[in-house]
Amino acid sequence: MIRSAVFALVLAASGIASAAQPVQPVLVIHGGAGVIRRSNNAADEADIRKALETALRNGYAQLKAGKSSTDAVVAALRVLEDDPHFNAGKGAVFTHDGKNEMDASIMEGEGQRAGAVAAVHRVRNPITLARAVMEHSEHVMLVGDGAEMFAKEQGITLVDPSYFRTEKRWQQLQKILKEEAAKQTSTDPEYVKHIGTTGAVALDSKGHLAAGTSTGGMTNKRWGRVGDSPIIGAGTWADSGCAFSGTGWGEYYIRTHAASNVCARVKLLKETAAQAGAAVINGEVVKMGGDGGAIVLTSDGKFAFPFNTEGMYRGWIGADGVPHMALYADDGMTGDVVLKKEEPVATPAH
Ligand code: ASP
Repeated sequence: MIRSAVFALVLAASGIASAAQPVQPVLVIHGGAGVIRRSNNAADEADIRKALETALRNGYAQLKAGKSSTDAVVAALRVLEDDPHFNAGKGAVFTHDGKNEMDASIMEGEGQRAGAVAAVHRVRNPITLARAVMEHSEHVMLVGDGAEMFAKEQGITLVDPSYFRTEKRWQQLQKILKEEAAKQTSTDPEYVKHIGTTGAVALDSKGHLAAGTSTGGMTNKRWGRVGDSPIIGAGTWADSGCAFSGTGWGEYYIRTHAASNVCARVKLLKETAAQAGAAVINGEVVKMGGDGGAIVLTSDGKFAFPFNTEGMYRGWIGADGVPHMALYADDGMTGDVVLKKEEPVATPAH
């Protein structure tokens, strides 16, 4: 009798679904890390918050309706891909030769299925194509023209490449090209760094995790450069205990296999989302010379927003159904957030 009571408690605490006790769903998102200051953002701040809020609400509606964490991740990311303020889908940054070249990936914790696409130019919602690769092909990653042929076969919306163009991103590229020609290093770090990559991690009522990331990569990238975002284990990861989506200087996330590294720490070292996230994002990545941030969610519903940049667009929604958003480093919401009964409580920063 006592034994079964203890077992039930452990089940509830570990977030494993049972018929009597479905897991409390959670959705956590990011909209990119980088030089995010109040002074840079004044004009766009309300729009960015609104887009994060809509993404949280759309994703959470899926979870509330009993849909999967994969559905929630895709619903949230499609909102951000369609919004020109983010470096994904419409609003993607430009390559050196003036193209928008996008990457995305998705992974499910249960069964570890994954799908990814890289260097696509005509796919309106790259995250939807990544999901189709996962669900309707025997492959994990498709690139370039082949990925777009597959998109066509799958009936996924293709658009003219001009759809992705925004004046702001175009001017960012022009500034960098001018500085390159004058052999100056950029005076404005926003132009050389990455801001606006999008990511989502979710836990559904069955206790299943999923993670997804979608990006235009880094301004002025060349030669078909692919970053971490579509690389499973670098920019995106999910297993049965942990889900991760990163945003930052992709080369360093690849070299530290940031995503699977964080989740391996959760599994093998029994670290929390905040501890594992800090060890890799604020530890290994920084030591090597990189920077960026991430969202990490564990199957007990705990999550963290480790980052080492001036800010990271970020948000979460859980039991109370209220979207919580933050943009700057001093906005709060940097460390672990522990779900306590119905009320989420913020605990110390990373
Ligand atoms: N990680 C992305 C890349 O390197 C950029 C970003 O997250 O801002 O392509």
